[in-house]
Amino acid sequence: MATEQELAQRRAKWQAAHGQTIDIDEYEDELVAIIEQIAATEKLEPQDITRLLYRVSRGDGPLAKDQLIHSYRELVARGVLPPSRETLARLRTKPVRTISGVAPVTVLTKPFPCPGECIFCPEFSSMPKSYIPDEPGALRAGQLEFDPYLQTALRIRALDNIGHSTDKIELLILGGTWSYYPTDYQEWFIHRCLDAMNGRDSDTLEEAQRLNETAPHRNVGLVIETRPDYVDEKEIVRLRRMGVTKVQIGVQSVDDNILSRNKRGHTVEQTRQAFRLLRAGGFKIHAHWMPNLLGATPQSDLEDFVRLWDDPALRPDELKIYPCSLLANTELYQHWERGEYRPYTDQELIVLVADCKTRVPPYCRINRVMRDIPAGHVVAGSKQSNLRQTVHRVMKARGQACQCIRCREVRGEKVEASTLVLQELAYDTDTTREHLLSFVTPEAGPGRAHPLLAGFLRLSLPKSRPRFLDEVADAAMIREVHVYGPALEIGEEGDGKAQHSGLGTRLIERAVGIAREAGFARLAVIAATGTRSYYRARGFGLGELYMVRDIGG
Ligand code: SF4
Ligand SMILES: [Zn+2]
Repeated sequence: MATEQELAQRRAKWQAAHGQTIDIDEYEDELVAIIEQIAATEKLEPQDITRLLYRVSRGDGPLAKDQLIHSYRELVARGVLPPSRETLARLRTKPVRTISGVAPVTVLTKPFPCPGECIFCPEFSSMPKSYIPDEPGALRAGQLEFDPYLQTALRIRALDNIGHSTDKIELLILGGTWSYYPTDYQEWFIHRCLDAMNGRDSDTLEEAQRLNETAPHRNVGLVIETRPDYVDEKEIVRLRRMGVTKVQIGVQSVDDNILSRNKRGHTVEQTRQAFRLLRAGGFKIHAHWMPNLLGATPQSDLEDFVRLWDDPALRPDELKIYPCSLLANTELYQHWERGEYRPYTDQELIVLVADCKTRVPPYCRINRVMRDIPAGHVVAGSKQSNLRQTVHRVMKARGQACQCIRCREVRGEKVEASTLVLQELAYDTDTTREHLLSFVTPEAGPGRAHPLLAGFLRLSLPKSRPRFLDEVADAAMIREVHVYGPALEIGEEGDGKAQHSGLGTRLIERAVGIAREAGFARLAVIAATGTRSYYRARGFGLGELYMVRDIGG
């Protein structure tokens, strides 16, 4: 296990190699303008801060918060700006990161081949397939030699240092195709991430999971990324044994012709089958969808997007829209050189994403609309890193608003728990009946198009029994419980904030009622290790892969 000193050394090495400084002389005017604006605005939305930070882009993404704070101190020392505690406090807040009440920790697996041959995918020997060495997360991981313990420990410490609560951690494991790594490596990797959260070493993955139940940093969600053709019944069981709760899955297109032209190596039917299995296993399904692939047009992409929701076998819970980026060392680049491929213009992309967003159903959360690729790598085509904001402006001008979960989240707004209304949305997939139960405010939020979402639960009622999962063969399944609020300390009462007002319990009890009415005698939940005690207190017992409660009837 690395000592404090080793951690500090590695961090210093990383910082030295990737300069955290900014040329204040060159950017003085912009920096002063940004700081003055932040100082003068009482309530800045996270997206406003992000937009401001992009004003001082050094070609590789927005200005980092740390750099802004450093610049502020320097400008105060030079007498350019007046010292102010309040300004410093405003500069320090990073509302985007933990606005959902959970601190995200992203770690990367080591460089390893991927079975895919996708023509758009970059490959660098120093990185897992598809990652670019100077992408923000990849940079940090590479400097730490992809060590899972160090990546997790340093990230938690960084969040702590800027004043964020880290008692609830969502662990995102990125890098190539997870299911293609050797099983031993997978287990070791997760084991070490948990050791870092637990603050102590353990002998086995099971022991680390058990320790995490009462650890200082509890794992409340565990996410991996994989390909549709690597999801089968055995993989579902293995993922669950390792504590995975959500799967990011590369769908990219729901058109076999496009899939094959881009050498994805799987079919739409394989994507459907992966979704069926993941849903049977209670996993949250986070799809990646990629417009502007070889052979696509804005029109065909819009039709493709609509199929994601029209096809009852698909209907993902979360979505990343990653417009294809043209990168130099890819096969797609050769198509572009031969004039067979054309990246969409900014305008085409903005219109397409706006059209897509108007069609997204309210049970889905659109997590991102652009991959954060350092602009220097994109050969041609859109380099917009603030696409979401631009799209939202266009939609507003058209009188439209995205109704996805992310766009309705309470986001730090105060809500009065007693006034919240329970909304129930039921929809079918080909293998389940899904119920999205939500607590929302009675009216649209200030400056927002929709009521604010304070918490929700995904209940899945299987239409047929998944035979490969004996333990839950006769059970209804809670796939997600999410109550929003800033990441408060466990046990701390949240002053009008949503997290501790029993919303989770009320959602669960309603799910029990619905499952019982539908004839189920047992209700299972896909519980992350750090949420086991929460569910135990609500009548669920730990089984082999799930927690289950008898709901009689
Ligand atoms: S499956 Fe993913 S990582 Fe593998 S080649 Fe295709 S895009 Fe790249
Ligand atoms: Zn949205």
